[in-house]
Amino acid sequence: MPAELIDGRAIAKKIRADVAERAKKLAQGGLRPGLAVVMVGDNPASAVYTAAKSKAAEEAGFYSLNLRLPADTSEADLLSRVDALNSDPKIHGILVQMPLPKQIDPDTVIRRIDPKKDVDGFHPVNVGKMLIGERDGFIPCTPAGIQVLLKESGVKTPGKDCVIIGRSNIVGKPMAALMMQDNENANCTVTVCHRRTVDLKAHTRAADILIVAAGRPRIVTADMVKPGAVVIDVGTNRVNDPSTKSGTRLQGDVDFESVSEIASKITPVPGGVGPMTIAMLMANTVRAAEMTVR
Ligand code: NAD
Repeated sequence: MPAELIDGRAIAKKIRADVAERAKKLAQGGLRPGLAVVMVGDNPASAVYTAAKSKAAEEAGFYSLNLRLPADTSEADLLSRVDALNSDPKIHGILVQMPLPKQIDPDTVIRRIDPKKDVDGFHPVNVGKMLIGERDGFIPCTPAGIQVLLKESGVKTPGKDCVIIGRSNIVGKPMAALMMQDNENANCTVTVCHRRTVDLKAHTRAADILIVAAGRPRIVTADMVKPGAVVIDVGTNRVNDPSTKSGTRLQGDVDFESVSEIASKITPVPGGVGPMTIAMLMANTVRAAEMTVR
């Protein structure tokens, strides 16, 4: 395997150690960063994600509030919970886990979170700040984590062709907005591919940096990758695998075996982008707390 592995676990560990250090400093001044994680209903995947986020918050020394509300919670009820968290001085970051039950409009909920506590970076105010390159907002955790992965693994981005597969509001679009900015960790020429892209391979073959967030197992094969490209696999698809104890395993959007033969650097799944998402959530939360004392 000629490609160098980008070790998301190791890089995330460094970020989390730095966050814990910053939290300690704040605590010395009497301020403990607080993160509220809100989940509505009992989606098993959401339960795993929210538990992991709350655990990471505790490990960083934060005050961690894990709020689980019943599946029949009304939108008005959830909004009044958000209002209470917005005005709670112990809470610096608020995260409402998606998806929400169908009686609740996710956009209404996202818009209700105080942008200064929106550590997911989904509020339109933060999305706008990211797009215009203002640095005092919050950047969505997964694309922010990918940018750190590239930097920490020594990838020089300026002038590179960066191709992104996927245009979701949580990964593809913010990733494109970040990589086109005028700074040393970006300055790429960005192409965004999606479901209606004609000839996906023609685009991916031109990529120096290929970021794949399609949610389609093994959609990217070796023939679609330029030799020497850096490949970031965001996909986390649960696929059947009778050889494992649970009968399933996580599969990325990239065919790792073949692509790792020709890429220069590649993220594994699991152990690549995933650990960075939680680490960046912690980094956003400690920054939200720091911003209250500046
Ligand atoms: P999404 O379903 O909202 O968006 C997928 C995007 O991919 C869409 O914009 C669609 O147009 C595009 N797409 C789908 N099939 C395509 C095809 N055949 N050709 C070209 N484009 C195609 O998904 P999302 O929320 O952005 O997540 C994408 C993947 O990343 C999922 O597997 C998700 O589980 C994973 N994810 C992982 C993390 C993490 O922390 N590791 C975080 C967020 C999302």
